[in-house]
Amino acid sequence: MGIAADDIDRVRAATDLVEVVGGHVALRRSGTRWVGLCPFHTERTPSFSVNAELGFYYCFGCQAKGDAITFVRETQQLDFVGAVELLAGRAGIELRWDNTRQSTEHRRRARLVETMARAVAWYHERLLTGADAASARGYLRTRGYDGEVVRRFQLGWAPDGWDELCRALSLPTDVAVATGLGFLNARNRLQDSFRARVLFPIFDVRGDPVALGGRVLPGADGPKYKNSVASALYDKGEVLYGLNWAKKAVVDSGEVVVCEGYTDVIGLAGAGVPQAVATCGTSLTDRHVAVLRRFAPRIVLAFDADKAGQAAAERVYGWERRHEVDVFVAALPASADPAELAARDPEALRRAVSGAVPFLAFRLDRLLSGTPLASVESRARAARAAADLIAEHPNQIVREDYASQVAVRLGVRPEHLLAGQGGEQRRPRTTAPGPSRRRRTETTSLLALSLAVHQPEAVAHLLDEVLFSDPLELAAYRALSSAATLHDAVASSEADVAELLLRLAVDEVADADADAVVARLLDEAACRVLRELEIDAQGRDRPFENAQRIGWLKLQVENLRDDTTRGPAVEQVLQFLVDYRSAAR
Ligand code: ZN
Repeated sequence: MGIAADDIDRVRAATDLVEVVGGHVALRRSGTRWVGLCPFHTERTPSFSVNAELGFYYCFGCQAKGDAITFVRETQQLDFVGAVELLAGRAGIELRWDNTRQSTEHRRRARLVETMARAVAWYHERLLTGADAASARGYLRTRGYDGEVVRRFQLGWAPDGWDELCRALSLPTDVAVATGLGFLNARNRLQDSFRARVLFPIFDVRGDPVALGGRVLPGADGPKYKNSVASALYDKGEVLYGLNWAKKAVVDSGEVVVCEGYTDVIGLAGAGVPQAVATCGTSLTDRHVAVLRRFAPRIVLAFDADKAGQAAAERVYGWERRHEVDVFVAALPASADPAELAARDPEALRRAVSGAVPFLAFRLDRLLSGTPLASVESRARAARAAADLIAEHPNQIVREDYASQVAVRLGVRPEHLLAGQGGEQRRPRTTAPGPSRRRRTETTSLLALSLAVHQPEAVAHLLDEVLFSDPLELAAYRALSSAATLHDAVASSEADVAELLLRLAVDEVADADADAVVARLLDEAACRVLRELEIDAQGRDRPFENAQRIGWLKLQVENLRDDTTRGPAVEQVLQFLVDYRSAAR
């Protein structure tokens, strides 16, 4: 895997799982656990549990389970290494790498990211202090960007020179080209990619700088926007501008606002809508939607109204179906984009976002509000056009609902709006299993296992595998007693055993006295042996020997049940059971 095993343990130990999970869902304390609504399935009553000390989570609804690394992987679409790196970064741990090839790749990426970070800082400094950046600063002021905005979004200025950046940072050609910061010109000389542009640094979801977007000043030549080329760091079909800053607000609000430009994101943030991201010079892709779905179930398109209305219905419904996401449209005033509206009327922008409507409702609204409906002929034409829009929606219930709403508005019968309808096409949402699947730790052996997980120091010396008769519980006990940590036990176990261990880890710890539980477990094990001995005695030629053992064991069981005699009995019965089982083997 690449990262030294010691370091993975250090990262786990340094990570507060409640804090990591708390960034995604609200948790509240319940006894020794933390509980909240599961981020992995839709539910109304909390079945998601976290054990902070042991560092595990488990969902009693959908059986999602794991530790901080698993959680980060599943919620942020990272691989194992990426998740460990992210947590190590949070904990301030520097990772060591134990595999040369992986290490080389990792170092290469780290070097590119580090170069991008230096370039972002250099361009930013130039914007703040460069004499040649005065017109850029003036332009940003006219847009209403003060120093705080410039710093928060780390805006920069690329001077109008051939190779100022590449020379200032002494960039080797391969690094300059690999990051897209520079390119080799026709005379084979290294040249800066960005010249005379205001720069918007683009960060990946982890916050690593991966690309730049550059805007010309008004009146200057060249295309208005120019973005970094695709690189080992940057894939514009997946990266969303602003997601690194917005992700917490996205999770908290349950929605992400998608717009088209860097300045839209900045404008929305300034207007009090921090859950906004932008595509970088491309339309929203299926991969973008997959990334966003990990953070929120609702996507609000904040494109200018014409473009939003024209978004291909087939693609939007495809996203809704494949990613189980709801696509809404913010009702921006005609020919207004979020950046412009943020500057002119931030309250109207907030209203447009909070009043977002489902994609189909938005399209029907536009159609009907733009059509005169005075005559029966015009209403008939509108009904036909509305029927076409409604027919595109894959869900019959949704189609029927809109048809009856529009029918009322047009004064026609709903069936006129349901032309060409097909059968149900939309995949039904998966319903989560209810809390009935929850199995509590109620048997003595499960209580003992729970103690072995939560208070190993109190029971470890009192337990033995002879005390467990259920094969799953026996396997769990063996895994626990042969591993140094619970993490190791889980990692070395079969799936069903690992699941049992994790469930015990996050389940409420019964307020049980360890000695009493052990005594009861011994009692039950002794009674099983007594039954065996009694059956055995009937067919034996030396009944006396068995009768003696049966008598002694019965007495010890009585002793186990009496507080005053329990202590010595515990040790004697355990020794007897261990000897008895090993003789039987
Ligand atoms: Zn769940």
